[in-house]
Amino acid sequence: MPRVRPPEVDRVAAARAAVAARRARAGVKQTVANRERTALDVAESAWVGEPSSPESTLRVRELLMSIPSLGPTRADKAMEQLGIAFSKRVGGLGVRQRARLREYLSQREGRSERPTSRLVVLAGPTAVGKGTVSRYIREHYPDVVLSISATTRPPRPGEVDGEHYYFVSDAQFDDMIARGEFLEWATVHNSSRYGTPRSPVDAALAQGRSVLLEIDLQGARAVKREMPDALLVFLLPPSWEELVRRLVGRGTEDAAEQARRLETAKLELRAQDEFDVKVVNREVGQAAAEVVELLAVP
Ligand code: 5GP
Repeated sequence: MPRVRPPEVDRVAAARAAVAARRARAGVKQTVANRERTALDVAESAWVGEPSSPESTLRVRELLMSIPSLGPTRADKAMEQLGIAFSKRVGGLGVRQRARLREYLSQREGRSERPTSRLVVLAGPTAVGKGTVSRYIREHYPDVVLSISATTRPPRPGEVDGEHYYFVSDAQFDDMIARGEFLEWATVHNSSRYGTPRSPVDAALAQGRSVLLEIDLQGARAVKREMPDALLVFLLPPSWEELVRRLVGRGTEDAAEQARRLETAKLELRAQDEFDVKVVNREVGQAAAEVVELLAVP
């Protein structure tokens, strides 16, 4: 039997309607992302309004991900806790699921009314002095919570395990990835792996304490995806010549490695416009003070 196809005009009309509906849902998500509307308000409107409304036809997961402080991993964890399938739309939730989602969203909104802490990510081109600035902060601002990364690279002279880094083997790093212990991780300079342990960050933020991460660019991007509220700070050298001088002067890398890192630095400098704030590292004390100031929630 020939397949029954709707007339061409109907299909065009249906496609147009689908595009309009998608746009309307995107508009709803945007208002949540901009904090013009709360996710709870969207859900409540879905449950009292038309079943075909953008609020009602929005997927729960999309609604959660539009909340500024919720990234995909947290949203998925919440969906799991709430016992809601990824495909569910807000209007299609059962009574118990609605109650659980309402409770979850009201708790979150109660908490997020006035954030007292924030996650600040300090990144920048190689050799700009991120390490020096973060060391200065560790020594002069003991109240600042500085995340301690895990790395597979061996310690340099003077570096202490558990203070500068957690120095781990490749196998241990693999285990940490498998257990989902990292907020982000990356292979840096094509050699060793570095990762930010997630739980100390979550714990500090939950206690209302701001946290500073000093990580590379890929890591900064990953954190922003995961925690869109994070403030990304780009540390700039006073000039390109000064960056070259710092890289060569450091003397910790051989000539081939220095050349490789300079190439990386050039690429990295191009990323500065992705960042929320730029700090010029003219003098370590001044740059550190500017970064510490950013940790305070206005
Ligand atoms: P170094 O080996 O000189 O201490 O650090 C090399 C690079 O790794 C620096 O650019 C530093 O910012 C970056 N890094 C340190 N910890 C982490 C981390 O946890 N994640 C990421 N993505 N990069 C990191």
